[in-house]
Amino acid sequence: MAGRNFLFVPGPTNVPDRVLRAMVVAMEDHRSSKFPELTRTLFPDLKKLFNTSDGHVFIFPSTGTGAWEASLVNTLSPGDKVLAPRFGQFSHLWIDMMQRLGLDVDVIEVEWGEGAPPEVIARALAADKAHKIKGVMIVHNETATGVTSDVGAVRKAMDDVDHPALLYVDAVSSLGSIEFQMREWGVDLAVTGSQKGLMLPAGLGIVCASDKALQTMKTAKCKRVFFDFADMQRTNADGYFPYTPALPLLYGLRESLDIIFAEGLDNVIERHERLASGVREAVAAWGLETCCKHPRWSSNTVTAVMTPPNINGAHVIDVAFRRYNLALGAGLSKMAGKLFRIGHLGDLNELMLIGALGGAEMAMADVDIPIELGSGVAAAQHYWRETDPVPKKRVPRAEVVYASHSAGSINA
Ligand code: PLP
Repeated sequence: MAGRNFLFVPGPTNVPDRVLRAMVVAMEDHRSSKFPELTRTLFPDLKKLFNTSDGHVFIFPSTGTGAWEASLVNTLSPGDKVLAPRFGQFSHLWIDMMQRLGLDVDVIEVEWGEGAPPEVIARALAADKAHKIKGVMIVHNETATGVTSDVGAVRKAMDDVDHPALLYVDAVSSLGSIEFQMREWGVDLAVTGSQKGLMLPAGLGIVCASDKALQTMKTAKCKRVFFDFADMQRTNADGYFPYTPALPLLYGLRESLDIIFAEGLDNVIERHERLASGVREAVAAWGLETCCKHPRWSSNTVTAVMTPPNINGAHVIDVAFRRYNLALGAGLSKMAGKLFRIGHLGDLNELMLIGALGGAEMAMADVDIPIELGSGVAAAQHYWRETDPVPKKRVPRAEVVYASHSAGSINA
């Protein structure tokens, strides 16, 4: 198909050309005396992204799922009790992993479309007088439903009842896109992957562990080899890895961190918020609902759009892909067929999103969802024009034209 593919799944996200070029490197000796020059910069810069100066960052050749596992096996023992709300496919999969690792999971069932419930967590912790619960696991941004939970409120709930459990947070589809305050929220293990806000291909599983989390390694009895934090710490101290690192991805990571810090992390987060708000305006203009049940949980990285009950969301996705070369995210598990997801994270701007919204409109119209073509695009355009901080700073157009004429040789 002519033209480019519009990739609007909520990960993997578009990889900027600069990052793609940075990854085209010859292989090199990862035990050379020069190699640490690259790796030594990555650890502190990743900490800046997590917003902490505490603890240790681990970079595994893996994915978010591997990072989940690493966070668990290094800090817990089989049979340990943990507490986890389930409110979407990713919280479900993390719980499934905990159970398969032999942990005793107290699952708090939450309607899909809602966020983690701090008050229910507080009640469960208050009832745990013997402090048997060793960890509370929260998916910050549930990518399956487009819901962002209030991690600060969960921390407060834990503090209010003075409970010592570790706080584990999946930041796979939030880090580098939605505000994440590891230190302020007292997160002990934050987990992410490379293919979302970091704008890289999949292939890195990253964990940031607090000092408190690192202490628990000494007593944690879950079996671990590949994901052993201790092996990593020993070699990372000198800028090396216990096994062959994924070299191109590390060069790509260096570049993506440079891009994020050049824009400014706060600006990146603000951009995601503006873009997401425009998408939500579009959904409202279509007369459709999002899966997210309340605006306070609206995700700034993914919007899950409910299709009318008689329309299979998978048809919208298939038509968008086959006819318009637009990749939208599918409904997962319980949500299969009920929705489609628009990913809006990473290397993205308004015009790219207008393409996605326009394509989604055409696909919806093709499967007989009664929306007005152009309505969502127009709503997003209005929103973005009205909230764009840049035009006020721009040089008026006439001055630009005048300047370019006088600088040239036409009138000379
Ligand atoms: N957690 C969340 C919130 C996710 O969105 C994903 C993947 O989309 C994962 C975990 C699993 O990550 P990976 O596919 O990198 O293993």
